[in-house]
Amino acid sequence: MFMQAYTYDDILLVPNKSLHSRSTAKLETKLSRNIHIDLPITSANMDTITGYELARTMSRLGGVGFLHRNMKIEENCYTVQKCLDTWKPYWSPVIPTVGVSTSERERAESLLSLGIQGICIDIANAYSDRVTSMINFIRSKSKDVDIIAGNVASGPAALFLAQRGVDAIKVGIGPGSVCTTRRMTGFGVPQFTAISMVKRTLLDHRYNQIPVIADGGIKSSGDIVKALWAGASSIMTGKLFAGCLEANNPNAYRGMASNDARQVLLSDGDVSTVAEEGIAIEVQDAGSAEDVIRELCNGIRSGMSYAGCEYISELNMCQDVRAVVQTQNGIIESGTRK
Ligand code: 5GP
Repeated sequence: MFMQAYTYDDILLVPNKSLHSRSTAKLETKLSRNIHIDLPITSANMDTITGYELARTMSRLGGVGFLHRNMKIEENCYTVQKCLDTWKPYWSPVIPTVGVSTSERERAESLLSLGIQGICIDIANAYSDRVTSMINFIRSKSKDVDIIAGNVASGPAALFLAQRGVDAIKVGIGPGSVCTTRRMTGFGVPQFTAISMVKRTLLDHRYNQIPVIADGGIKSSGDIVKALWAGASSIMTGKLFAGCLEANNPNAYRGMASNDARQVLLSDGDVSTVAEEGIAIEVQDAGSAEDVIRELCNGIRSGMSYAGCEYISELNMCQDVRAVVQTQNGIIESGTRK
């Protein structure tokens, strides 16, 4: 009666014939319809994670930072402009975020006037007419900017966004490490299955040009490889950068729907009747984001070698690689033991 849905930990990929050495694996991928990046890693638009410093590091290493929006429009534009000034004339190295309230239109318009290449519309459940209104507003101001919208966790929701002309879809309802949505509301889809369902639906409806970003729940490079195999073209993580030197607040990590973070957002005109769906935690020093990214990339390259794939686009739903569902004992065996 109910379909089974899986998390990253439930699944293991079966090693394929290794055709390439791990050193030759290529990590370039598509972030969105028209934006290419050199690594499949993006940093989350959370106010303890992506500010100017992390955005700069992400971009320098070939990924991309999604800038948080928990700040006044002037500061938001100033930060984006600083990023643009650092990297011109190459490409817009940062993706700023907007919400969907009417007051966010002013933010979107100001950001678009800076000449960004991509913008993220971020809302807890993007299967919503409010997202349609924001997409239409952005399109009325810019025909060229890539619109990345999320989050969703089902085929129909992804199709809804695809039909409204978005250029990438962010997937993940409730997998985040500081997220309490599933417990608060009873809604969500285990992340591995959510990614597969979204990608399958996009392909079935000939939206293969729309990349999927797997957002939340990544604990290791192994999870990234599983996400890429399931159909994502890149992943977003906050947790793996929490406590890093380059994080916007290296001492704390908080959900953007936690009361802590919302106090700032609410004062900026957002609704105050929504439930708290995140927590705030203290974090330990996690070293430099650069080291974290390097380690993740090594793991991904190694995973691609087990898959027999040279490119991430080959790994994406690769038919030659099978997946198995592991039992609780398998999960124990997969961990390290003394
Ligand atoms: P993590 O890397 O911690 O597993 O997941 C990061 C992701 O969690 C973010 O990119 C975002 O999609 C999601 N997220 C951030 N803050 C909150 C929150 O307060 N509530 C919920 N439900 N999700 C959040």
